[in-house]
Amino acid sequence: MFHKILIANRGEIALRILRAAKELGIETVAVHSTADRDAMHVRLADESVCIGPPPARDSYLNIPALLSACEITGADAIHPGYGFLSENARFAEICGEHNIVFIGPKAEHIRIMGDKIEAKRTARRLGIPCVPGSDGGLTDDVEAMRVANEIGFPVLVKAAAGGGGRGMKVARTGADLSEALSMARSEAKAAFGDDAVYLEKYLEKPRHIEIQVLGDGRGKAVHLGERDCSLQRRHQKVLEESPSPALDDKQRADIGEIVANAMRELKYLGVGTVEFLYENGRFFFIEMNTRIQVEHPVTEMITGIDLVNEQIRIAAGLPLTFAQKDVKFSGHAIECRVNAEHPETFRPSPGRIAYYHPPGGLGVRVDSAVYQGYNIPPNYDSLVGKLIVHGRTRNEALMRLRRALDEFIVEGVDTTIPLFQKLLREPDIQNGDYDIHWLERWLARENA
Ligand code: ADP
Repeated sequence: MFHKILIANRGEIALRILRAAKELGIETVAVHSTADRDAMHVRLADESVCIGPPPARDSYLNIPALLSACEITGADAIHPGYGFLSENARFAEICGEHNIVFIGPKAEHIRIMGDKIEAKRTARRLGIPCVPGSDGGLTDDVEAMRVANEIGFPVLVKAAAGGGGRGMKVARTGADLSEALSMARSEAKAAFGDDAVYLEKYLEKPRHIEIQVLGDGRGKAVHLGERDCSLQRRHQKVLEESPSPALDDKQRADIGEIVANAMRELKYLGVGTVEFLYENGRFFFIEMNTRIQVEHPVTEMITGIDLVNEQIRIAAGLPLTFAQKDVKFSGHAIECRVNAEHPETFRPSPGRIAYYHPPGGLGVRVDSAVYQGYNIPPNYDSLVGKLIVHGRTRNEALMRLRRALDEFIVEGVDTTIPLFQKLLREPDIQNGDYDIHWLERWLARENA
C-alpha cells in the first residue's frame, strides 16, 4: 500500500480523497494555489505545499510543481480527483516515469476514451451499443451531408476532443448543417486546440444514464449499477439519482453486464463511468469518463461501497474486495449539486460565506469543503457542496431531500438551494418523468 498520497486537486473532491486515504492509514499531502491558502483540504491534510498562483494552469495544472511537491514530501502516489489533470494521459505517463503511481487508469485507456471518435470505435468493438453516426472524423461538408442523410436529421455535430458540452451543435435540416459544422469546428478549436468533429443522430427525448464500473487492470471488473443524470443545464449535470426511475432490475443487470464485460476485455483499471443516452428502451453510448465522478456518492449510498477507497487499493495493485454477486443495491439516493450561483440567472457568486449550517440526520450526507468565514475564490468552479440523501424508497429520498434543503443555510453568497427547493415541488420531478431537455424547458418557462 502507498505510504503517502499527494492530492492534485482542491475543494470537496480533495477532501473526499483525503478521507479515503486517512481511513486506509495513508498520509496525505495537499497542494494549493495562493488563492486556496485557507482551504479546508489544506487544513486537514498531514502536509501541504503551495504550487503556484491562482490561475489553474499555473497551479493545479502545473506538472513540474506537482512533481516537485512529490519529491519534497516523499509522496509515492498522486490522486488527480476529477477535472484538472485527471484525464491527461501524458500526465499519467510522466508520473510513472518518476516512479509515482498515478491513481487512475492505464494511460492508453485514458487516451482512447479522451478521443471521442476512438472511444466510440472501441466501445463498438467491445459490444457496447452506440448512437448511430459517422464512424470517424469528418473533414469535408459533402461527406458530412452524406452521413447526415443516411442517419437522418436532426443530427448533432460533436467535437472529437469534446468535454463540458462544448463544441456541440444541432442541425435540424440539411440547410443548417454547414453552419453547425463550422461553428462546432471553431468552438472546438478554441476550447481544445483541435477542430476534429463527428456526427451523431440527435436524440430528441433521451435520458442520461451512466454505469459505474470498477476494474482491477487484470481482467476482473464489476459494475455498480446506474446513475440517472438527466437533469442538466447547458449539458452540465444538476441533480443525479440512482436507481434510475426509468429502468427495471433486468434492464439494469443487462446493460451493467454488457459494460462490465467490455471492461473485462479491456483489462480496465480503476473507477470509470460509461455514459449512455437512453431512449425508448435502448441504450446509446456517448462517452466514458476515466476518473472518479462528481456524482459518485449516489452509487456509494445505495451500494455501501467506498469508491475512492477501492480506487486507491486497485491502484496499489490489490485485488477487488468483492465480486459482482456481492454487489447489492439498497434503497434510493439523490444528489444535488449546490453551486455558489444566483438560483435564477446562474451568475457566479464568489465571496465570503457569512453563515453556514449544513443539514444532518439519518440518510443525509454533505460532501463539501466550505465553512463559515470561508471565502469562495472566483478562480475555480462554483460548487459549494453536494447534498446527497438516501431513503428506502424514492419517495422517502425525495421527502428527505426537501427536508435537508430546508435545513441547509448558506449566507453571504447566492446558492442554487432555492432552485432545488422549487424543482422538488414539480410533479414531473416527483414522478421521475424527465429527459435531458426537461430542465432547460422548465427554466425557460419559469424565467419567461
Ligand atoms: P461532453 O464530453 O462535452 O460532456 P457528451 O458526449 O458527454 O459531451 O454529451 C454531453 C451531453 O450532451 C449529454 O449528457 C446529452 O445531454 C447531450 N448529448 C450528447 N450526445 C447527444 C445526442 N446524440 N443526442 C442528444 N443529446 C446529446
